[in-house]
Amino acid sequence: MLSEAFGDDIEVTLIDKGDAFYFGFSKLDVMFGRTTRDGVLLPYKKFLKFGVRFLQETISSIDSIAKRVTTNRGTHKADFLVIALGADYDFAATPGMADATEFYTLAGAVRLGEMLKTFTKGHVLIAVGGAPFKCPPAPSEATLMMHDHLTARGIRSACEITLILPLETPVPPSPETSRALLAAFAERNITFVADRELKSVDTQRRVATIEDGCEFSYDLFLGVPAIRAPKILEESGMTENGYVPVKPKTLETRFPDVYAVGDCAKQGTPKAGVFAEGAARAVAAALIARLRNHEAPVTHRGTGSCYIEFGAGRIGRVDVDFFSNPDGPTGTYYEPSISLRADKEHFGSSRRARWFGM
Ligand SMILES: Cc1cc2nc3c(=O)[nH]c(=O)nc-3n(C[C@H](O)[C@H](O)[C@H](O)COP(=O)(O)OP(=O)(O)OC[C@H]3O[C@@H](n4cnc5c(N)ncnc54)[C@H](O)[C@@H]3O)c2cc1C
Repeated sequence: MLSEAFGDDIEVTLIDKGDAFYFGFSKLDVMFGRTTRDGVLLPYKKFLKFGVRFLQETISSIDSIAKRVTTNRGTHKADFLVIALGADYDFAATPGMADATEFYTLAGAVRLGEMLKTFTKGHVLIAVGGAPFKCPPAPSEATLMMHDHLTARGIRSACEITLILPLETPVPPSPETSRALLAAFAERNITFVADRELKSVDTQRRVATIEDGCEFSYDLFLGVPAIRAPKILEESGMTENGYVPVKPKTLETRFPDVYAVGDCAKQGTPKAGVFAEGAARAVAAALIARLRNHEAPVTHRGTGSCYIEFGAGRIGRVDVDFFSNPDGPTGTYYEPSISLRADKEHFGSSRRARWFGM
């Protein structure tokens, strides 16, 4: 947005330690063999925009008063700083998780995809190391996709599937979506355990223990690791209770001209890409207005559409709104259909084209 507004008249520096972006939902596609690891990577070298330079560097500290970022290659000083470092997986928070299989990293999804090829019978257990976690519907989607995968291979009757969530319902802001997911679990003979956090995994005994002490033995484990904002944000004095506090509607931190968006921030919405994008758009709109000496608009609406894989090629959608209703978030549910798959594909392809020209 900054490049589109100012072209070469602006100097934007984008720093990322990685060399490519990929959508969170790509991990589900990779795990279930719909595509490959390389097929989902969107290289930053394709991110060519007027006024923007990309630096592949690892940030080691941020001075939010001087607005100076130190990396493995040097220091960068800015007039405005937008922190968008995401959330790191906190494998140490759940004993055993570091040795367990998980599908929340791309490497973990690839590994589970390989294991699925030879899995023929037994108990598939999907469990979450704690809330908040990334993309609350994703474990439910993985569960329904697992049912489809095992059915397509003719081995579903030799398998059990259990989903354990640290939430009372699968999608708390939308009771209708939650009811539809619970019905889908019941129809498919999937056991759902609500409101329980995974406390430990014993990969030798193949047993997962949840917060009430209940144990679940498994043959295939799909873990969702706990998260926290990257440690450097804590070390740079930017976090409170694990995340960077911001004003939810403007994304301003307590440091002048320093904003934080996405999973690293406490921005009043779930940890999901669609809300990270909404927050980033709001910051960009505010910066464009400020640089043009217009009054800065408050544009973060706290809304977003989440596509939910229901299996059998069908996709549901829930449009959630976190800020409009003073009594709490609301959600509008759209029943799963084949046509919503085209919607989700457009969501990905339109961004791929706009951001990467691919
Ligand atoms: C299985 C799964 C399915 C998902 N499905 C969806 C979905 O359908 N819809 C949806 O909206 N969301 C989904 N998500 C969630 C989504 O992927 C995240 O919420 C989103 O990526 C958060 O965006 P972000 O920009 O805050 O952080 P990230 O996308 O994590 O980006 C942070 C960036 O910071 C970089 N970085 C971190 N530390 C450093 C450092 N020290 N130096 C330099 N660079 C650094 C990283 O390399 C990374 O590129 C899903 C997630 C998973 C795991």
